[in-house]
Parts: sequence; structure tokens; C-alpha cells
Amino acid sequence: MKHIERTLIIDAPKFLGQYVRLSGWVNSRRDHGKLIFIDLRDRSGVVQMVIIPDKEIAYKNAKDVRSEFVIDVEGFVKERPGGLAKNTKTGMIEIEVAKIDVISEVEAELPFDVAKSELDVNLNTLLDNRNLVLRNKKINDIFKVYDQLLKSYAEAMRTAHFLEIKTPKILSAATEGGANFFKIKYFNREAYLAQSPQFYKQAGVGAFERVFEIGSVFRAEPHFTTRHVNEYVGLDAEMGFIDSFSDVMDQLESVLKKMAFDISQNCQEELSEYSGEILAPEHFPRIRLTEALEILEKEYGKKSEDVDIDPEGERLICEWAKEKYSSDFIFLTHYPISVRPFYSMPSADGQFTETFDLIFKGVEIASGGQRIHNYKQLKNNIVRYGLNPEDFEHYLDIFKLGMPSHGGWGLGSERIVQKILGLDSIKEAILFPRDVKRLTP
Ligand code: ATP
Ligand code: MG
Repeated sequence: MKHIERTLIIDAPKFLGQYVRLSGWVNSRRDHGKLIFIDLRDRSGVVQMVIIPDKEIAYKNAKDVRSEFVIDVEGFVKERPGGLAKNTKTGMIEIEVAKIDVISEVEAELPFDVAKSELDVNLNTLLDNRNLVLRNKKINDIFKVYDQLLKSYAEAMRTAHFLEIKTPKILSAATEGGANFFKIKYFNREAYLAQSPQFYKQAGVGAFERVFEIGSVFRAEPHFTTRHVNEYVGLDAEMGFIDSFSDVMDQLESVLKKMAFDISQNCQEELSEYSGEILAPEHFPRIRLTEALEILEKEYGKKSEDVDIDPEGERLICEWAKEKYSSDFIFLTHYPISVRPFYSMPSADGQFTETFDLIFKGVEIASGGQRIHNYKQLKNNIVRYGLNPEDFEHYLDIFKLGMPSHGGWGLGSERIVQKILGLDSIKEAILFPRDVKRLTP
């Protein structure tokens, strides 16, 4: 029976001189002749504990415990002799242990020391040993930033009166066409995993005006890159009654400024661990895609055969934006019709579209724009794109019922975290990433 309530390690200094109970994982154990030192870790931090031979049972148990054992400890909070240990919020104290109970042992060989401040292992090792790796403080902290990002996104959207929705991920037809769909067996039929909530969030506009979604997106892309995975979490939004796609960019900009602000405020420790920073000025620069391609040629000697910008171009245009506008963000606008989906609103010139990409620290993090809301125009555009309107029957139904002008975006959550913290691969920002070669753990 437990008589004393558990104290979190971070709170232990408040109990100086008192008897407390702590629970957690053995971060490390050191035998110093007679004394045994154990660093105990819980969700709030790490504290040093000392076990002296006089406490016979505790001492015996302390001899047996190994890294990552889960233990329950009782003891006195004492001032730590020899002063502060660096970089910890509990460095001024230690726990003089009276009692140790082992809650669970480690049954496996640990492939590396997860308590090290810097895990010096390659990406595959990081991903293969995910359950262990996620316990490392520096890795663990990636997901604290991620948590803040999700929270800020939802808060920003609700503040602007967007309704949070969840749309189906199992679809009867491959939404936008194309090859990057996963086909699945659905009872005795075929179905597809959603590669975007696009059509459903537009339906959401028809019902609620403003909607957002935080949801899984599946892409059967064979890319093996540092910024693609096959399942990611999209931060989507769609808003009705816009005057132009500038309204959409304004909204997205304000969401990202809030995320940047919240993360700088609430994740200072995590940011400093990674030397992460975010330059988010009052207004993010906005330039036309064609202008960006000209800048790349003029300033960086980068000629482009393509009408679109490539990854190298995205990296360079961000360098330019940082230099010129002290901004880690830049909007590129007016993508040509040929590189945008059929529901994109064409610009007056008939060549370009009322669309944008948002580039952050060298990679695209969002695509968005104004959508066609007129039924006939949409149907004609489907034909113009060489698609069959019959395949879009349910989607077109939305537009037969009266739709406001509207637009929105798809924003990739993991790429933002990757870029804020300067992680080499997007996979490091995902708990259990799925890529072309990886379906486990
Ligand atoms: P890219 O050109 O980089 O492959 P995309 O233009 O195909 O991206 P969109 O369809 O515009 O991607 O999706 C919106 C956002 O979702 C992207 O800007 C990105 O942040 C994120 N995203 C898209 N595909 C992936 C992926 N495979 N893995 C992780 N995030 C992705
Ligand atoms: Mg895109």
C-alpha cells in the first residue's frame, strides 16, 4: 500500500528536508565504492539519488537496478553537497533514499545509452529503436515542440471562428486522380486512403463557412527524401466568403505567427537545445512565382527550364527572403494552371491561378489558394483538365447547392517542426514514421 502521494521530480526542491515518494525510470546508475548514485527520470525531469549501505534493503535493490528499470522510491530531499549540477532544475538537491521498489525490470539488451544528452547514432538506428529512442530527452523534446504546434494551430483557428472537423480517410474513389493513392481492400470492394481532405473540407464550407482539420494524409509517393513520408499529419483549413486568395494568405500568416510566438515563448529550452529559431516578421513577403524564378536567375545564376520552382530554388529563395526581409517565410503566388489541380481558381489572365505556396526555411510547408465555387465553371474545368465529370459526381453535388467564394490551404505539420529544429529528416519529427521501406515499429 502506498501511503505517500507521488511527487514529480520537478517539484522535489520545494520539499527540502521532507520525506517524499518519487516514481520513474533509472536514467543512469553509478557505483562509487560504498555509495550508489541513481539518476531518476520522470516526465518532469531528472534528479540525483544517493543510496547508502546503512539502508540495507534499498542498497541491495539499488545494486540490482539497471538503466530504464522503472522504480518507486521514498527518501529525504537534501541539499546537494558540492553545489549545483549544471543545466538541471533539480541540481541543487539530491534524494537520500530510504526505500526502493522495482516496478518493472528491463528484459532486453539496450543497444545504446539512451540517457546521453546527444545520441550519436544514424537515422535507421533512431527509427528502428523508436520505443527506446523516444525516451532520450533531446528526442523527447521534439515532440514537446510538436505538441505546442498542434495546440497553437487549433487555438489560432478557433479564435478565427473555424470549426474543427474530421473527414473520412477511407474513400470510394481516388479524390483528385493521379497515382499517389494507396488502394485498400474494403470488404468485397476496393477503396482508397485519402491523400487530402480537399473535397470534404470544401463540403465543410458549404455547411459551416469556416472549417479546419488536423488529420492523417496518405501519399503513395515513392520518394525517398528528407521531407517526404507516406503518412503525415495535415493542418488543413478552408474558409468561405473571401474577396481574394490574399484573405487566405492573411489567415495562414496569422496562424503561423501565433505558432512561432507560442513556440518561442513556451519551448525555450527545446529551441536552445537544437539552436532552433523562427524569424516571423509582421508581414511575410509575397512574390509571384515568375518573379521568384527571375530572382533566382539574376541573384543566384540559377536558370530554370521548368515553369515551377524546384527544391534547390525553394532553398535559395528562402535565403533571399531572409537576407532581404529578415523572414524565414515567403509566399510564392500565381502558379501556372499546368501545375495546379483542376479546382484552382484561374487568374484573370487565364494562364495563372489564384494560388500560393508558403516556403519556410528552404522547403514548401503549405499549398493553398482560392477554389472555383461556380458549378458550371468547375465542371468545364474538369473537362479542360482531361478528367471525366462523372468521376466527380459527389464532389460536384456540393456546387449544385450554392457555394460561397472560398479558399484554403494544406499545411504539413511535421515539416514545420523539422525546419524549426533543423532536423536532417522529417522522419525525426514523427513518432513512428512510415516511408517506402518502413512499416515498423
Ligand atoms: P512536395 O511538392 O514537397 O512533394 P506537395 O506540393 O505534393 O509537396 P501538397 O499536396 O501541396 O504537397 O500538400 C500540402 C502540404 O503537405 C505540403 O506543403 C507539405 O507541407 C505537406 N506534405 C505533402 N506531401 C508530404 C509528404 N509526402 N510528407 C510530408 N509532408 C507532406
Ligand atoms: Mg504543394
